[in-house]
Amino acid sequence: QPVLAVVGRPNVGKSTLVNRLLGRREAVVQDTPGVTRDRVAYDALWNGRRFTVVDTGGWEPDAKGMMASVAAQAELAMHTADAVLLVVDARVGPTETEEAVARVLRRSQRPVLLAANKVDDERGLADVHSLWSLGLGEPMPVSALHGRGSGDLLDAVLAAFPETPREVFGASGGPRRVALVGKPNVGKSSLLNKLTGEERAVVHDVAGTTVDPVDSLVELDGEVWRFVDTAGLRKRVKTASGTEYYASLRTKSAIEAAEVAIVLVDASQPLSEQDLRVITMVVEAGRALVIAYNKWDLVDGDRRRQLEKEIDRELVRVRWAERVNVSAKTGRAVAKLAPTLRTALESWDTRVPTGRLNGWLNELVAAHPPPVRGGKQPKILFATQAQTRPPTFVLFTTGFLEAGYRRFLERKLRETFGFTGSPVRISVRVRE
Ligand code: GDP
Repeated sequence: QPVLAVVGRPNVGKSTLVNRLLGRREAVVQDTPGVTRDRVAYDALWNGRRFTVVDTGGWEPDAKGMMASVAAQAELAMHTADAVLLVVDARVGPTETEEAVARVLRRSQRPVLLAANKVDDERGLADVHSLWSLGLGEPMPVSALHGRGSGDLLDAVLAAFPETPREVFGASGGPRRVALVGKPNVGKSSLLNKLTGEERAVVHDVAGTTVDPVDSLVELDGEVWRFVDTAGLRKRVKTASGTEYYASLRTKSAIEAAEVAIVLVDASQPLSEQDLRVITMVVEAGRALVIAYNKWDLVDGDRRRQLEKEIDRELVRVRWAERVNVSAKTGRAVAKLAPTLRTALESWDTRVPTGRLNGWLNELVAAHPPPVRGGKQPKILFATQAQTRPPTFVLFTTGFLEAGYRRFLERKLRETFGFTGSPVRISVRVRE
């Protein structure tokens, strides 16, 4: 989701305006004693579009003086945001500080909006003209206190954001899409038959929807699911001519078309390279993942112990994925698939509110700061969840974060927020 950075001198009414933009849905974070409230990020929603509002903090003079501090804030805003909002007190007019900031902002590639605050009534409009001199385009009169002009401002903010890619799957897009994948002979056809036979409900037509003939609609646990690209499995036409390359393409396209994948492996055989490749495909495609160990009826004590070792050794990367031990032959645990799929999809859809995310992150980073690199201590400024499906987080930092530390963050993120069954992505935007 796009980021709006709000910058402005103390007392121009920046915090009041931020509250106004948020519709006060997310209360302003109270200052925690001992923690400097440097920057805070909030979720905002306007006209159905979500974005993040970052309050870059007050322009207090630091050791290097007021100008340096202000310039640093403006730089930060430019490097972390998709659009910048400069708030000026229209009654005071542009000060030297704001002129300096405007110079920095004009050089940036980012869209900049100029809010002329404290225009509480018609008379105040006369003050607005002087702000044209900042060279940031038309000043937008607002009264953060009374709410005047804030709707127009929000419209302008949304219009300023770059087009963001539409989410691929609609929230209300009918049955959830499942890929049933795995190397040949792990029992995919058998499992699909079991699922459809058991429930006696291969739904061929759901009122009003046309079924793509390559998919199967299957009712599991009171819910209809769309198993994608199952034509080959259903017909049981084992194309002897099907090369491995072709099979792998099929697998890939099924995963792409799905929201969640069940990777079926043969529990009676040692886990192979090919099994791991399919799992990797799912993770790289960013789909939710369930690992189903099939042919569990053939697993004895010895094999079981061996299998646990394999899991420890080979599947650490996907420790977050739930495993189900099933048998397509006997029907064992097949009923567990639906709840497992639901959990994975729920994680995949999860959105962590920005306030909560940053509260958690501040505490974590205070206790475990990122390792020093090249003599410098990278600072994590704030984080936002940019996307769901899968949950994707963006960290704004002052320096590169080592892979080990990123893994640590992911582990902690999972400990706190769950994400069972879903990959999680963390990207880092370093402020130059
Ligand atoms: P696919 O290539 O993944 O679709 O695998 P199939 O469904 O064609 O199954 C391959 C072979 O494994 C067949 O001989 C099945 O009868 C057998 N099979 C599938 N599931 C099970 C299971 O749970 N237990 C046992 N013992 N055999 C199974």
